[in-house]
Amino acid sequence: MTWINLLHYGLPRGNDGNMQLTDFKHIRNFKPAEIQKDGSILGAVSLALIVSIDDLRDAIKTPISIICVTGGDHGGDTHPRGIAVDFTTKNFIDMETMIWNMCRAGFRGIGIYKNNLGYFSYHGDVRPEPVQMWGAYKKQPQYKWTYVNIQDII
Ligand SMILES: [Zn+2]
Repeated sequence: MTWINLLHYGLPRGNDGNMQLTDFKHIRNFKPAEIQKDGSILGAVSLALIVSIDDLRDAIKTPISIICVTGGDHGGDTHPRGIAVDFTTKNFIDMETMIWNMCRAGFRGIGIYKNNLGYFSYHGDVRPEPVQMWGAYKKQPQYKWTYVNIQDII
């Protein structure tokens, strides 16, 4: 994405398949390697997604560790489309604060996962489709995720 493209089109929604190394000049909190560590190809990753996770990092004021973007085994198609990121935070963020800040950062698909040890991980995506939110938990590490309403995950 060149800045001339921004002048013409603004930040694209969804995935325009055009993220480039030079975009990281404007990304404050993440290096290309953090996006690529799961095998994700930058050109297959949404620029809007990386801008959103970058804004979220600033908003919540605690480091974010990216688990995966296009890599990994996922239900749904948002990861293969390059518009979704799974991540953890260094410090705990309460659910209300996290949802507010994810929405403000432009995420439109939000999943909150609580594992058998009580640790949280998050899914955020920039789908152009209607907003969707969900929670999931597992009581044992070998269990599959049980999906619930997001407000029932606490
Ligand atoms: Zn995900």
